[in-house]
Amino acid sequence: MVKKYLTLLFAMLFVMCKSPQKQETAKLVILISIDQMKSEYLSRFNPQLEAGFKYLLDSAIVYTNAHHNHATTTTAAGHATLATGFFPSHNGITDNTVYNRALGYKHYSIEDTTVRFVGIEDCGLNRVSAKPLLKNTLGDYVKESDNASMSYSIALKDRASILMGGKTANRAFWFDAASTQMVSTDYYKETYPDWAKKYTANEVMHSEISKGWVLDQSFTKMASISSDSFERERGNFNPWFPHTLASFDTMRVPDNKRGAFMWNSPYGDAFVLKFAHQLIQNQDLGTDDHTDILSIGLSAADVIGHHFGPNSYEVLDYYNKIDFYLAEFIEKLNKDVGKENYILLLTADHGVAAMPEYLADQGIDAKRILGDQFDADIARINEKLKDTFMLSDDVILKANYSGVEPNMSIFERNGADLNSVINMLTSELERLEYIAGAYSFLDIKDSSCNKPYIAQIRNSHRDEFGYYVKLVPTENYLIDMRKNGTTHGTPYTYDTHVPLIVKLPRHSGKMIDTKAYTVDIVPTVLDVLGIKTEVHFDGTSLGQSY
Ligand SMILES: [Zn+2]
Repeated sequence: MVKKYLTLLFAMLFVMCKSPQKQETAKLVILISIDQMKSEYLSRFNPQLEAGFKYLLDSAIVYTNAHHNHATTTTAAGHATLATGFFPSHNGITDNTVYNRALGYKHYSIEDTTVRFVGIEDCGLNRVSAKPLLKNTLGDYVKESDNASMSYSIALKDRASILMGGKTANRAFWFDAASTQMVSTDYYKETYPDWAKKYTANEVMHSEISKGWVLDQSFTKMASISSDSFERERGNFNPWFPHTLASFDTMRVPDNKRGAFMWNSPYGDAFVLKFAHQLIQNQDLGTDDHTDILSIGLSAADVIGHHFGPNSYEVLDYYNKIDFYLAEFIEKLNKDVGKENYILLLTADHGVAAMPEYLADQGIDAKRILGDQFDADIARINEKLKDTFMLSDDVILKANYSGVEPNMSIFERNGADLNSVINMLTSELERLEYIAGAYSFLDIKDSSCNKPYIAQIRNSHRDEFGYYVKLVPTENYLIDMRKNGTTHGTPYTYDTHVPLIVKLPRHSGKMIDTKAYTVDIVPTVLDVLGIKTEVHFDGTSLGQSY
């Protein structure tokens, strides 16, 4: 009742303040990010996507050439970017874990030890919050313009949910595998809802968990798909179907099998979509003219993609199944909120590289460089630098796939010339067949530096985070890797090219092939909603293109 009066009051205020340029009234904006979804899946898997994706492709504006425009294409950086309209260099979230230069160690980019979990007695997950995010999210802007608006976010991954939610979200929820519950913290002021406590994956997905992940009857192998148990596939499951609780590799998943099943199968993301619908119903989202925001991250897609690769039975079947769950979710949206009352966007935080062995089989130059080889090469370069500059201390302090940290104290202590040492270090690194570029802070600060991808490197850079020298591998090479699986994190098209689907009320479907960027999402939605800000985003509204 109170909500009704408040709604009426705010509705009256809203009418008075309504911008004359307002283009669309939307009761709800839904932002879906599928973790690790490549744009090409929409076309490559198209014959088999006949439900939710087909509905969106037929009825929405589809940007077929949408990209992330920063170099470090990882989950935290991608979500912060698509949710703020700013590159990591400005939004503050440059990677999942960041090497903190002042502290001299790595930590989780969203670490916040001051928060406490709510809605659960005992939670062993990391304490995290949106505090390190330096920019507003879409939900923050909408709530700022109308304080009767609500914003929620949900994902299996904490970083996806928290970074899409932003600082003023009513609440962000993420998955605790031990309890199979969606948890949250006291960073958010609203009371943790009772219904959410009871809505566990253990109960809601009981029959899927018992049955296991089996291939759909309709599953047909495609030309681009390798056999079911490709040699480098290795997840927490054995590599062949069916994937059941019993087929978990017991060394990798010793306990919490039901929670692990959610993380490693399409059913984890199905649970997230079901939880999202519960949020709409229980928190009264999309019921009035105060635009609400619901951000949804589908994180199991990333886990499955890492383990099995983009040319696997598992990834194709994941999209087959999510296609159905998306259709189910959209059907409920059309019924509960109304077909013409919501805006729905679908994108991804990054893509992924194909398994190098799969590409090599097709005659493409691609390699997996194991951690041992990488470490041996770094040790050799370290010795060469020591000899050349006659230093007794190690020159390289730390190194991994993302970069190399030189021992900065040698420059003061031994009088070594910074420029000379760094120039030799970067050129030695670039002589390795698997390194395409080594970019030091000197390159980043030098406006005349024209190395390939320097703009994307700068968009990923903040002085306080990351190793002094950043590495970009040779295209299609995976460096400092384990023996199995694949990954992402480069400025190459296979990692940057993501879907961007914008479903607007009263618009018909359209394909647009001009380049669009994930930083354009927030300015576009604000433009559609007629919300004016003084903010100069890194992206621009795509409003002119449809
Ligand atoms: Zn990933």
